[in-house]
Amino acid sequence: MLDILRRIVQDINSARDPSEACNLIVSEVKAAIHTDVCSVYLSDYIRGELVLMATDGLRPSAVGKVRLKFGQGLTGLAALRAEPINVEDAPAHPAFRYVAATGESPFHGYIGVPMIRRRRVLGVLVAQQREQRKYTADEESFLVTLAAQLAGCINQAEIRQALDRIGNNVLSASLFLEGVASAPGLGLGEAVVVFPATALAQVPDKGIEDPAAEAAHFRQAVALELAELQRLSERMRLLLSPGDRALLDAYALLLGSDSLVNGTLERIQAGNWAPGALRATVLEYADIFTEMDDPYLRERSADILDLGQRLLNRLQVEQQVVDRQYPENTILMGEEVSVSQLLDVPPEKLKGVVSVRGTGTSHVALLARGLAVPAVFGVGNLPPGRLNGREVAVDGYTMRACIQPGPALRQEYLKLIAEEAKLSQGLQHLRDLPAETPDGHRLQVHANSGLFADIAAARNSGVEGVGLYRSELHFFLRDHFPGEEEQAIIYTRVLRIMEPYPVVLRTLDVGGDKPLPYFPISEQNPFLGWRGIRISLDQPDLFKAQLRAMLRAGSAYSNLSILFPMISSVGELDDALDLLRRAQSELLEDGVQVKPPRVGIMIEVPSAAYQIDTLLRRVDFVSIGTNDLTQYLLAVDRNNDRVAKLYDPLHPAVLGVVRYVVERSQAAGRPVSICGEMAGDPASALLLLAMGVDSLSMNLGSVLKIKWMVRSIPYAAAQALLAEVIVFEQAAAIRERANAFLDQHGLSGLLRVGK
Ligand code: PEP
Ligand code: MG
Repeated sequence: MLDILRRIVQDINSARDPSEACNLIVSEVKAAIHTDVCSVYLSDYIRGELVLMATDGLRPSAVGKVRLKFGQGLTGLAALRAEPINVEDAPAHPAFRYVAATGESPFHGYIGVPMIRRRRVLGVLVAQQREQRKYTADEESFLVTLAAQLAGCINQAEIRQALDRIGNNVLSASLFLEGVASAPGLGLGEAVVVFPATALAQVPDKGIEDPAAEAAHFRQAVALELAELQRLSERMRLLLSPGDRALLDAYALLLGSDSLVNGTLERIQAGNWAPGALRATVLEYADIFTEMDDPYLRERSADILDLGQRLLNRLQVEQQVVDRQYPENTILMGEEVSVSQLLDVPPEKLKGVVSVRGTGTSHVALLARGLAVPAVFGVGNLPPGRLNGREVAVDGYTMRACIQPGPALRQEYLKLIAEEAKLSQGLQHLRDLPAETPDGHRLQVHANSGLFADIAAARNSGVEGVGLYRSELHFFLRDHFPGEEEQAIIYTRVLRIMEPYPVVLRTLDVGGDKPLPYFPISEQNPFLGWRGIRISLDQPDLFKAQLRAMLRAGSAYSNLSILFPMISSVGELDDALDLLRRAQSELLEDGVQVKPPRVGIMIEVPSAAYQIDTLLRRVDFVSIGTNDLTQYLLAVDRNNDRVAKLYDPLHPAVLGVVRYVVERSQAAGRPVSICGEMAGDPASALLLLAMGVDSLSMNLGSVLKIKWMVRSIPYAAAQALLAEVIVFEQAAAIRERANAFLDQHGLSGLLRVGK
């Protein structure tokens, strides 16, 4: 069964469109479980119906015509209940409904299994038998497993179909991609698809001007690879078994054969660049092998893919370097857009980001917000390879991207972009005014930063300090750890620009979803692994170099605070403080006039929140990192789009812990700040204001909006709201009430920002 299952899924994946996928499913399932009929119904949510999309066994004329309301008949019931229905004698079941058009009256055995993706029923897979038949538990699990796999493929097939239509320029409507998270804002521009150096399937198509040069480039890569394979085979004579060496020889044969090389050259002649031509050819050949019945030959498709990959790597070494031209309005798109890919685009050209994977608190999302670039993450199974050069609109407010918007839609986006610019223009007068409520309660609005570009912008944006300087961003921009001297120059510049406002420099926080390219960490569970202060304490040489650099910068200014990330126990803090003292005394010995900095810790691990009283005795301030605190309290990976719906800092448990930490800090007379994303979200910031936090640190794009909110709402009213919602049981209710409150106070303009 497992083999059959794999086969079917592979076939579906290679289908060109949903109807081809459905036709494949029905005939293969019918044969696999020896049943008389197999059909697929797909959900049409606009009309609340299931449509018969494919059948093997019912009248073909019924396809596309038979429509069942959710809940209607056994198939509608399976969709409504979102669970399998397996009955021996269908006509005897109270929900049975006879549909004449299908010619199904003589069928008795029935099983309907819903295809579900992200809690949504995408359709129902149905098998029927002329005689009475109860499908066995094994058959039922087979269909359930298959339905779960198909749910993913069907979505992919739908998108592929739409994209194919774009390719042929027959698309009448624009294609919308729904994300699960975003960075606010609107952008319109040209798609630039980025892909990791190793992903063959993700390479985009791209037009070229000089096919002859491109062909020569490809031929050279083939020759180099061939020579390499021969060398490898020779060298491996003593190390590899003859079977393994035969594989290398087979690769060489494949490369020498006409099909792969000529196929690619033909595509290059037709105008595609070498990597795109190679991808198309390799996938075509791999598909032929995948479809073979002989298991040995089927396996060879993996070899072809592997060989294609090797050739691609060769081609890319040069291509990556010469290919760094970005259009004026770049919309960066990719399977998983990375921090370094984003940083590679000149900021003035970057108008938006669309990433197939990722969520709102992944670091690339934080960076997008920091740079005020609209972005949409988690758009699902999109093959970005087809999108290079197309016009794309990114709407971070509705979490949607629109591929090739039609003329009317395009006008609408341009209008909204202009309106947005007007709103932010309208808030400019708040820049130099304090964040003070009408009844006189003040708090500080600070910036989250980490780059030169945004630190210069921060100085003129109306913030009264930098509440979180993510020092690791500089580490990402290099190909080695920056040394003490190099770091000291960076930190000095930051302190000088912000002087006299305070600057909180956070020590290196890598690991988790932020592995450094030159310091790879491979772990099963990176967020629970070696990250943040844990790495710093285990690499005291690197840590002390950073601390010394910070202290040296601080020796000339009086605005330095140092912040330790990911503290989870008192011992860690004591060790970090010890290393800080050692760095200080070393510098004093070197004759540097070190000024003792203010020292704080991030509260982002639940254990630290519950040991807050003890920790507070050792530090000058705390900063609550609600991004990680939410992830660890709710056990929801902040980067996993599958569980993004569960990630909510307004969850009553998160609010409760944040309030507890704020109260304990106030009782100890220590300032408390919030530097997670929730500080820049109006509804959340309103509740944090009510808790009495000393400062909110956020990306620059949110500063004026949050100042507007603070200056519009009396502190007493915010406190009353907090008292009301803190007993609510669910995040959604809290958000709804807080948003309604903002609306009542004339702040509906802020609400588009959303979660
Ligand atoms: C946080 O966890 O809330 C935080 C600000 O740190 P980072 O997002 O950089 O992990
Ligand atoms: Mg964090």
